[in-house]
Amino acid sequence: MPIAIHPGSFDPPTLGHLDLVTRGRKLFERLHVVVAFNSRKTPLFSAEERVRLFQASLESAGIRDVEVQAWDGLTVELARRLGATVFLRGLRQVGDFEAEQSIALMNRRMAPLIETVYLPCREEHLGLTSTLVRDIARLGGDVSPFVPPPVAQALRERFQGKS
Ligand code: ADP
Repeated sequence: MPIAIHPGSFDPPTLGHLDLVTRGRKLFERLHVVVAFNSRKTPLFSAEERVRLFQASLESAGIRDVEVQAWDGLTVELARRLGATVFLRGLRQVGDFEAEQSIALMNRRMAPLIETVYLPCREEHLGLTSTLVRDIARLGGDVSPFVPPPVAQALRERFQGKS
């Protein structure tokens, strides 16, 4: 079974991300979650905070065999270092596919032996994005139906008294 990397911004991790990892880890010998640098996004949580939040989320779900790390270089380079041959990504709606396809094709140009594998999200996670979760939390809404408990707690602390 191949080793896979699941890269993303995870700002913050949601139940959609956690579900993807839960399903993905059954398909691969090892699965590494990688908090990656995205030049188009200014994050709410630092890379170190997102790593800790993902680790705490996995722990709260009883998942112990998934590594989480931050990486600010090319993900193909990290894949080479970890011996990974698969990028695992999730697909929600049609818009995701367009963006994912460009990334996958460029990654293939740089590393032809690494394949991108997409898993469709669960129906209940179709509209779930980290951006919406941040907006709801910022406005004082309850995000606990959308994120693991440690993330809900971190968002409450971040926005306490700011709404
Ligand atoms: P990026 O900035 O790389 O898009 P995200 O944190 O938004 O990072 O997403 C990381 C990965 O998780 C992507 O493959 C994305 O499609 C997937 N993903 C995001 N939200 C969900 C969800 N609700 N259900 C399943 N997969 C999701």
